[in-house]
Amino acid sequence: CGIVGVLGNHEASPIILEALKRLEYRGYDSAGIATVNGGVLDRRRAVGKLINLSDHLVHNPLRGKIGIGHTRWATHGAPTTHNAHPHQAGPVAVVHNGIIENFKDLRAELEDKGAEFESETDTETIAKLADFYMREGLAPAQAAFKTIDRLEGAFALCFIFEAEEDLMVVARKGSPLAIGNGEGEMFVGSDAIALAPMTDKITYLEEGDRAIITRAGAQIFDEAGNQTDREIKIIRMDQ
Ligand code: GLU
Repeated sequence: CGIVGVLGNHEASPIILEALKRLEYRGYDSAGIATVNGGVLDRRRAVGKLINLSDHLVHNPLRGKIGIGHTRWATHGAPTTHNAHPHQAGPVAVVHNGIIENFKDLRAELEDKGAEFESETDTETIAKLADFYMREGLAPAQAAFKTIDRLEGAFALCFIFEAEEDLMVVARKGSPLAIGNGEGEMFVGSDAIALAPMTDKITYLEEGDRAIITRAGAQIFDEAGNQTDREIKIIRMDQ
């Protein structure tokens, strides 16, 4: 299972696919990509090997310079297309590695308010909760942060939003996540190996960190919500 995020100046899908291939060693049962293009959030998902996703993308291309990708190792819900990530709710798409322990409570709370779910995953709850907070009037990053504060369990997360082509929100708790610092481009990955073709300037998020990422850079906050600096390390990989 793995996560990739690209906030770049080129078509994101091929870059994401390549980075997902570099995470193949972690194992997975399905994969997917979401991008924003011209204010439209769209996604493609496929069960099985990454080649199935890349075939799907050949016939149904996904344009856009911002995107997120995921390889899934199912924990909640069978390995089907519906359960594959990215999960989308209204203007929010999210990829997740890990397990949300309190998802049943959150799901019941949202269902009470009229939300309808299309998957059996813990992850869809995250997208629905962020969508709910946005409909209550919060800006995308604030809605994502408020959502993250309500999650119990283990997670690496990456959010993107419809109509936001220069914004990504990420978080890490119990699952690894690294930010890659490019030149006017930013990247996110489960590890530095995934990002090696794009950049060797890596910021490792610490437990409980969350970040707002734009092409200009990453603003990182600790679990208490205080803005914090994390070192940018040069991580050289044999590609
Ligand atoms: N718990 C999530 C799911 O089953 C994420 C699994 C993963 O880490 O890939 O969809």
